[in-house]
Amino acid sequence: MGDVLDGRESGHTTPTRPTGGRRCPIRILIVGGGCAGTAAALGLQHALAARLRTGDAEITVVEPQPYLTYRPLLAEVAAGSIDPRHVVVPLRRLLPQCRVLTARVTRIDHATRTAQVDTATRGGTGTVTELPYDHIVVAPGSVSRTDPVPGLAEHGLGFASVGEAVALRNHVLEQLDLASSTRDPELRQSALTFVFVGGGYAGVGALAELEDMARHAVRGYHNLTADDLRWVLVEATGRILPEEPADLADHTLAELRERSVDVRLGTTLESAADRLMTLSDGSRFAARTLVWTAGARPAPLLRDTDLPLDADGRIRCLPTLQVRGPGGTPLAGAWAAGDSAAVPDATADGAPCAPNAQHALAQARLLADNLLADLDRRAPADYRPDRIHCSTSLGIGRGVAHTRRGRVTGRRAWWLHRARHLRRLPSADRRVRVLTDWLLGALFTREVVSLGAVEHPRAEFESGFPEHR
Ligand SMILES: Cc1cc2nc3c(=O)[nH]c(=O)nc-3n(C[C@H](O)[C@H](O)[C@H](O)COP(=O)(O)OP(=O)(O)OC[C@H]3O[C@@H](n4cnc5c(N)ncnc54)[C@H](O)[C@@H]3O)c2cc1C
Repeated sequence: MGDVLDGRESGHTTPTRPTGGRRCPIRILIVGGGCAGTAAALGLQHALAARLRTGDAEITVVEPQPYLTYRPLLAEVAAGSIDPRHVVVPLRRLLPQCRVLTARVTRIDHATRTAQVDTATRGGTGTVTELPYDHIVVAPGSVSRTDPVPGLAEHGLGFASVGEAVALRNHVLEQLDLASSTRDPELRQSALTFVFVGGGYAGVGALAELEDMARHAVRGYHNLTADDLRWVLVEATGRILPEEPADLADHTLAELRERSVDVRLGTTLESAADRLMTLSDGSRFAARTLVWTAGARPAPLLRDTDLPLDADGRIRCLPTLQVRGPGGTPLAGAWAAGDSAAVPDATADGAPCAPNAQHALAQARLLADNLLADLDRRAPADYRPDRIHCSTSLGIGRGVAHTRRGRVTGRRAWWLHRARHLRRLPSADRRVRVLTDWLLGALFTREVVSLGAVEHPRAEFESGFPEHR
């Protein structure tokens, strides 16, 4: 790993004190370049600019992708309202004074203040090394929770990355092409049936945006109408949007049902074998689209650390975003924020904050301030979230949102939702690009062509070699 880390891992085994007349830099390691990791890095980069220039401090960000993915806008990527490249922010451009490693942290040993870093991010061969640090910010977020449902691995699609959002859009549009072109009524029916499992942000947002897009797209087909499409949302609990207040979730549910979405609460998917969906309420039907968004669990990395975890597997934190040590004291040099951190919400009787982008960004900003306070031997502040402003986009011109004055719905809520996420997107460049996408979308008719062929770029070429077919 010496090539990746410039050989800096050797020699720096003790933090921040003069050695041989030269001061060792303060080494800050940030694990994860998502909402929380990037916001913390931005805050630290800004406040430590002078020390970063003189080499008195160094910030290393380790993230398997070379970019931040702003997940709340993925549903609009799937619907074609935003160019996929505009919801990702290149980390090296955003954090020019930090060292960005496109790699994965595979172990954290806080007792010796070392992290193991692996550069093999896409299954290829990489190098593994130990990276020492003085302060660590742990923000690897969460991953999809999968259940051992027959047929799920073969036929299911996830919805957490920009690649999955693009693939899902192409897949849905391909199903319309297939249904329009086939003479087989069973195939047509299964192509026009779209099943989403999991009624959280990801499932509800993706279903609502794609339903809206498909409703528009069928106008271009001579033999399809919106009434031919069947959308099913399967949710194991008794409500959707557990991250949002109950009244907003109820309103969203009513809106989806009004649009003829078949929402099955208290129901689970038992099998998807041979693309035949079997639900726990006894119903069975064929569907060629199965999107799995049934919950999330903390990043697997957390199990390979010596940091304290709560019953849900999240890092136990103090309200100061410091990791909770023995007896409730701060664990020196260890910080956490975002989906993977159980941070007490002072405004909700100390219950852990819900995993959402608003908390992740606000916690990370305070974490950066508190880490700086710790370096200057000042007291850190507690996380006291502002009122969480919830909103959901449900397609062009449709949404639900909470404001200080109460609930708004329809086009006003939709604009509010867009304005909030535009403000939170951590890059001025990306904000302008997303805004431009939206303005172009308002001026021109929606683009509904499937580019699924880009997922198999060699297929056409290979067909010229009969022996390879
Ligand atoms: C489809 C979807 C829609 C959503 N919509 C909304 C919404 O409308 N509103 C809202 O508030 N929230 C929404 N959320 C939730 C929101 O995106 C998360 O709460 C937020 O991103 C959490 O920030 P984070 O930094 O903790 O995690 P993330 O933003 O997920 O970032 C974690 C990063 O850590 C990296 N990582 C993981 N493991 C390692 C490792 N071992 N080493 C190094 N890096 C690692 C990951 O690659 C990732 O980039 C949505 C989530 C999804 C998936």
